[in-house]
Amino acid sequence: MKNIIKLLVPEMPKVEQILPYWQQIDENRWYTNFGPLVCELEERLSRSFSREPTKVHVVSMANGTCALQIALEALRLRKAGRVLVPGLTFVATATAIIRAGLTPLISDVDPDSWLLTPAIARAALAETPFDAVMPVATYGCPQDVAGWDLFTAETGIPVVVDAAGAWGNQQVGLTTKVAFSLHATKALGGGEGGFVAARHHAYGQSMRALSNFGIDAQSGGLVFDAGENGKMSEYHAAVALAALDNWPTVAETRRSLHQRYAARLLARIPALKLQVKPADGVYSLMLVLLPPGVRGVDIQLRLLGEDIETRRWYCPPLHGHPAFQACAAGPLPVVDLLTERLLGLPFHLSLTDADIERVIDCLADLLTDQAAAP
Ligand SMILES: *Cc1c(COP(=O)(O)O)cnc(C)c1O
Repeated sequence: MKNIIKLLVPEMPKVEQILPYWQQIDENRWYTNFGPLVCELEERLSRSFSREPTKVHVVSMANGTCALQIALEALRLRKAGRVLVPGLTFVATATAIIRAGLTPLISDVDPDSWLLTPAIARAALAETPFDAVMPVATYGCPQDVAGWDLFTAETGIPVVVDAAGAWGNQQVGLTTKVAFSLHATKALGGGEGGFVAARHHAYGQSMRALSNFGIDAQSGGLVFDAGENGKMSEYHAAVALAALDNWPTVAETRRSLHQRYAARLLARIPALKLQVKPADGVYSLMLVLLPPGVRGVDIQLRLLGEDIETRRWYCPPLHGHPAFQACAAGPLPVVDLLTERLLGLPFHLSLTDADIERVIDCLADLLTDQAAAP
């Protein structure tokens, strides 16, 4: 019997690697509310970003969605203000916008990078006003923060990047803020968790207060703006610290697996297209764009028949969900084309070269069959 090739196997630290950190919690007797492990995590994460021209402030959060929501709330936009967001993203991007009391305005994406770019935002702005942009580092592909800094300088419109799954690839801008997720399936896994990285101390302080019910430490505990409970516990910080210890090895293994896999896919099936993104990046997913006329759903079903799991990430797109249907800025032809033909292949560090060969062979056979069909 053939073994099932799993789509995704989270790469989490082992309990024995977490234990020394958890023992510190026993000694500290400090369990949540910005304890020493949360502070250590924020400091280590902050140091991983370029310190030029200023230090990056990292504010930990309970999860990535909460990080996005609070990052938006701390911008203090007008009530129900509109936030430009790509149609090709996880539903949580739009959820965070709505929970922050704002309105998503769904835009199209670039046909090569599959991202909402500054050029697309400028074109959208010529058609309709909006109050902020939340571009997404889709499938781990980094956003050009220098380009977004320039967009903000020109238009005055703030930008918060949803880089939930792009740890290791995504830089932080001068004015452009970035939110990450530490969900078990993301690049850096802490179980649940997230954080926002930005170069403004006051903005960081504001997010900290909003993540702690809105309690303002400076005023002796008054609440000026109602916040939420978005705090990360010491236990979660411990897992994320252990994940950071493993990161250099995990990153290197993922990088070489992705490069090998992509090269073999394209060599064997030249009709496939991959996302145009930095070749030396660290990616946790392997998405392919199937040839024109081939639908992701059909291939997914047939690969499952061969015991190969796949997922159509972000299909349907945002505007395909009843909750966000009314939010499309206009026709979104690139998003519609991509979500018809995108397919996420198995990608994880337990994947063997033989597994990769089997995935590619099966996919090649199915595409030949499809091409031969009348
Ligand atoms: C995973 C993800 C989120 C949500 O992060 P959580 O930590 O699960 O809340 C948001 N946006 C994108 C693009 C994601 O991939």
